[in-house]
Order: sequence, then C-alpha cells, then structure tokens
Amino acid sequence: GVGKGVAEFIGQYIGHGSAEAYRTLTETIPEPLLDLLRIPGLGTKKIKAIYDTLGISSIPDLAAACEDGRLDQMPGFGTKTQQNILKGIERLDHFAGQFRYDVALTAAAPLLEILQQHPATQRVSVAGSLRRAKEIVKDIDIVISCTDPTAVSAAFVDAPDVVDVIGQGDRKTSVQLASGLQVDLRLVDDEHFATILHHFTGSKDHNVQLRTRALARGFRLNEYGLFPADGEDPIVCASEEGLFEVMELDYIAPEMREGLGEIDAAHDHCLPRLIQQRDLRGVLHVHTTDSDGTADLSQMVAAAADRGYEYIGISDHSQSAGYVYGMKAEDIQRQHEQIDALADEKIHVFKGIECDILEEGQLDYDDDVLGLFDFVICAVHKPLNMDEATMTRRIIKAMEHPATTILAHPTGRRLLERSGYPVDVDAILEAAAELGVVIELNAQPRRLDLDWRSLRKARDLGALVSIGANAHSVTDLDHLPRVLGIARKAWLEAPQVLNTWEATACQELFRRRTT
Ligand SMILES: [Zn+2]
Ligand SMILES: [Zn+2]
Repeated sequence: GVGKGVAEFIGQYIGHGSAEAYRTLTETIPEPLLDLLRIPGLGTKKIKAIYDTLGISSIPDLAAACEDGRLDQMPGFGTKTQQNILKGIERLDHFAGQFRYDVALTAAAPLLEILQQHPATQRVSVAGSLRRAKEIVKDIDIVISCTDPTAVSAAFVDAPDVVDVIGQGDRKTSVQLASGLQVDLRLVDDEHFATILHHFTGSKDHNVQLRTRALARGFRLNEYGLFPADGEDPIVCASEEGLFEVMELDYIAPEMREGLGEIDAAHDHCLPRLIQQRDLRGVLHVHTTDSDGTADLSQMVAAAADRGYEYIGISDHSQSAGYVYGMKAEDIQRQHEQIDALADEKIHVFKGIECDILEEGQLDYDDDVLGLFDFVICAVHKPLNMDEATMTRRIIKAMEHPATTILAHPTGRRLLERSGYPVDVDAILEAAAELGVVIELNAQPRRLDLDWRSLRKARDLGALVSIGANAHSVTDLDHLPRVLGIARKAWLEAPQVLNTWEATACQELFRRRTT
C-alpha cells in the first residue's frame, strides 16, 4: 500500500498547492494580464509581447485586435496564431462557469479547514458534484451543522479567497472565489445533517430514484429530510449509512451516486468494493529528463520509494516524438544501464516506454528494440486530424502488436480545452478485453482520460485498467492518489487496476504480452 508520504502530500496539495503556483505566477507577470493566461495555447511570453507592444491586457481587447489584424505587425504572430487565439477565446466562452475537479478540490480545501476549525461546527462535508468526483463541476456545495450559524457564516465570508458575497443568511450563504467558482454553504441542524448532506450530494437522477424507493416504502424524501408519508416530523438518521438502511440498501459511496444502477446493486448486495488509496502499490507512466520530464531517473525512483510505492514503471517518449525529446536507441541503452545500476534500491524499477503510435498504426521502434522493455505504453500524440474509422483502425492495429501492454490516454481529450479525437471507444475497449491490452486512466488532471463512463464499460468487458501518473516531475507522482475518485466513479475494484498488483504479478502480465 501507500504510506504516510502520499497522505501528507495530499494534505499539502489540498492546502497550499494552487496558492503557491498562483504566487509564482503573479511574480512573473502583472496581475491584470493573468486573465489572458486562461486562453488555451497562449503562454506568458506571447502575453508579455502583446502587452508590451499593443498595451492589451484584457480578453475582449485581444479578441478585437486579432479580428482587426493588429497583431500582424508583431513577429511570431502570423494569421494562424491569431486564428488560434480567437479559437481559444471562443473555447473559453464555451467553457465559462465550468471548473476542473482538481481546481475545485484545491479551492474547497482551505474553506473546509476554516469551517472545521470553527468552534461552533459540529459536522461539515463537501457535497454536490465535487463530492461525487465529477471531472467537471460548476460550483462547490458544502453542508455544515453547527450551534451558531450566524458566526459560522461570518467566518465563511471572511475566508481569504472570497471576492464577493452573493448572499448571507442562517440557512444558506453563497460566495464567489477569485477563480470565479461559486461556493454555497448550507447550514443545518445536526440531527438533519445526514439526510440533507445526502440530498445536496445528488445526483439528481440518484435522488429521483431514491425518492421513488422511499415512496414505495411509505416515506417522503426531499431536501428537508426523510419523513413518514403521513407525518410532519422528519425521521432522524444519524448518518448517511442510516438513511440507506431505512431504504433497505447497502451504503452507496458518493462517487457512485449517478443513478446508473447503483440502487439496484445496493439492493442486491452486489455493489463493488471500490478501490482505495491503500490498494495502490506501484506508479506507472513516469517520464524523466531522458525525455520531457524535469527530474532525472534516480530522483523519480527515489521520490516513488519515498511515497511508499513498491515499484515504478519508467516510460519516456519514443524516438518520433522529437518535440518532447523522444529516445533514440542509444538513449534507451544508457537508461537501461542506469536502471540496472539502481537494482538494489528498495523499489523495483520496470523498464518501459511511451511509444508513439505512428500514422498507420505502427509502433515507433523495430521489434528488437521493443523487446528491450518490460512494458510498452502506446499512445497517439500526432497527427490527430483523422476520421473516426481511420483513427480507430490505427489504434487497434497498435494494440494488436504483441509488444503493446498499455494504451495511454485513449481519446486525447483535454478537459475544458479540447474534446478527444474522434474514435470508436467501444471498439477500442472490446479489442482491449480480447487482446489483454490494459486501458489507461491517465491521472494528469487536464486529461483524466479514459473518461469514467467508458472506464466502467472497460470494467464490464473485463479489460484491465492502469492508473497512469503521467508524471513529468516529482510532484506529478501525486496525481495518482488524487484521481482515485474518478476510478471509484467507474466502479473499479482493486484487482481490476494493474498498479494495485504486486510487482511479480505485473512482471508476469508484461511477459505474457511481450512473448
Ligand atoms: Zn502521452
Ligand atoms: Zn506521458
């Protein structure tokens, strides 16, 4: 399992992660320009050039300048760049009001801490889509029971990140954070905490289904609590477990509450035993300075050992990926010698590669080079502009190669930036199940690819899943535990996830694929 290191890190990440990143950023570029950074594909250098040359510091001004061709005079800003900027701005509008799971998690953490530490607080929990580990959320919901709602509300609106108070009362207080996220705090009596927490956790579909079940059992269930059909006084449930018990159901974890069969499964006592942090034994999909990582091999290995992992799978980019310093044959040999030299470390190091899937579906090395690796992660990086049938054929062809162990980020999506390339995910999953190729849940917060809905299909088909860190730095190793909510949302159990297996079992699976 994973020890104290990871748990501590999560605490730190949740507590300080974004704050520190934000501070570094504000030191390098002036505050008003930060808004421009939200435009996908526009980096600090270009923003600075635009500001220095044209004095533009807002998104609407930049859009107008692109449309008028005012950027033409600037070196490095051709028509194509300007079109891309405009496209990026359009996408921003499209995604306005939506936030990534990790962003919301980071924003919620300091607020929860303030509430937890308030002397009047009895119980507090995040609710809503964030508690359900949705990959995208629109706001943050928090439910709290306390002895002094007025004092708690006042402390809440005083939180450092709050820029606007939308409403303040003894039942509900809403604020806006600097990121644009709205946070709704519901203040309740402690005896109704569990039922109200359940209600505001949702989802809507789950609640509708549970309400129907309640009616059939002679109860009314709504946002005020659980009531006997003919009574006004709510029934007190000490915990959510108690509420599910009254409904004659096993306890349903928040991540599963999507109205996608969990109530039937809870009724039949066949809910999955969801994967937990302590199940993770190894970290796969790790880059080093041998391709585009920022830490070298020995640093990544030591960091994984520090975090309590029993093994690490190194997978730098392959030779065609020139833009990320892909590895030539001689680089591979050198890296493998270094790995062998680390042999007495307390952690096992697997030799792997993130191998580009070339345009026709071939892998990026000859078979004799591929044979040097313990495992091969194959992935599409470019080109991406293909029709669905061609892309699907290309990927399945790569999966059919006996060297292929894992298919990384199967759709190439970037959350709130771009949808994936067109691909027949069902066909990919069927091929994975049939060929024994492992499907990745890429833990990079912008990817979370494959999507949990499809991962659940993968699970149902009997395909194995690998939670890939896609680590390019030491701190990226901690993507792994943070993505567990998504894995749980896909109903994944530990045995269905490769990196919960012991190193020897992984080795065996790798061998089965390569020989
Ligand atoms: Zn990749
Ligand atoms: Zn990668």
